[in-house]
Amino acid sequence: MVDWNALKAELKAAAREIGLDAVGVTTAEPFLDLRPKLEAYYQNGYDTGFEKGSIDERVDPRRTMPWAQSIVAAAMAYPSRLRNAPKSIPGAHRGFIARSAWGRDYHLVLRERLKTLFDWIRARVPEARGEVMVDTGVLSDRAVAERAGIGWIGKNGMLITPTYGSFVYLGELILDLPLPPDEPMEERCGTCTKCLTACPTDAFVRPGQLDGKKCLSYHTQTKGMVPLPFREKLGNRLYGCDTCQVVCPYNQGVNAEHHDDFAPDPEVVKPLLLPLVGMPKKTFRQTFAKTAAGWRGKRTLERNAIIALAHFRATYAVPVLAERLNADARPVIRGTAAWALGKIGGEAARAALRSAQEKEADPEVQAEIASALKMLGAEQPPSLIQYD
Ligand code: SF4
Ligand code: SF4
Repeated sequence: MVDWNALKAELKAAAREIGLDAVGVTTAEPFLDLRPKLEAYYQNGYDTGFEKGSIDERVDPRRTMPWAQSIVAAAMAYPSRLRNAPKSIPGAHRGFIARSAWGRDYHLVLRERLKTLFDWIRARVPEARGEVMVDTGVLSDRAVAERAGIGWIGKNGMLITPTYGSFVYLGELILDLPLPPDEPMEERCGTCTKCLTACPTDAFVRPGQLDGKKCLSYHTQTKGMVPLPFREKLGNRLYGCDTCQVVCPYNQGVNAEHHDDFAPDPEVVKPLLLPLVGMPKKTFRQTFAKTAAGWRGKRTLERNAIIALAHFRATYAVPVLAERLNADARPVIRGTAAWALGKIGGEAARAALRSAQEKEADPEVQAEIASALKMLGAEQPPSLIQYD
């Protein structure tokens, strides 16, 4: 007969040895509080398309895993500060990758550790059944972590831990073992609203409720043209957005650097922008593809780099942007380059736009060229103006 309380205590100690920074246990009962929130989320159109599973599957772990009895929630902390930030180079600008994508892709790291934890359990309960989920499963990692007592969900929607703030990756191990649950933690935001007011796009419709389609993090991960109002707000964000976390009082002074896997390479997380535009596939594979920022591919990162160059009004980028506009096979790159040339301005930008206007076949790119020329005060190229 297994003493489940004793096994849970040993498991928590083992988890720390394995390199998991916080561990809690909850039951596999449905997350009933989640249902009305998810229903409102979809009904109001706040969803982004990145969500997994149906509402029923997300609320009830046993919909997809009828054998589930308990869930071990785990967190790994990641750094928030960049040591040895790259030196600024005159006449060049850098982009920024959100902290959650620094270092090795956390999906792989956390999955490996949770699998090791499951091996530890199987060494003691050989017939145990389990499944590891990290971000890509149907369950809400944050709801699971909150009910397992690892932290509370703040008004910014992030899971906040007392020790590491919200700079934590979350994952879970679903088990068919009756491990006794931990107590959830009380919410500690109080009257603070810093995250809500700091959001550059007013993406929070109320505390804890995000309109995903307004979130810049989402827009850094799409594949098509970024809608104009968000293009203007992206700044030099290449992947993700940390603003509503950076301002949180619970994240001040927190900088977990104890996991080598998540140590940032300054030249990768704060890269020079211009070399990203039209970068070779090999460069992408060797740098960004290994990080969590790589999952949407090279084109998305290039598009964001072009938007960032426009943000800085980088006149030195005009020749490269002109080349992209006139020769790139990807409409999203041509269209974004057209917009950026309109923002940066100057005679060379205008000439590139006019030359592209004569041969561009894609209607969306044509529209971008036209509005870029309008920005430059040159709606019609001289060759098209009729003199009677
Ligand atoms: S990640 Fe950025 S854009 Fe999204 S809600 Fe937070 S502050 Fe707003
Ligand atoms: S900034 Fe304030 S309100 Fe927002 S999550 Fe942090 S403590 Fe809560």
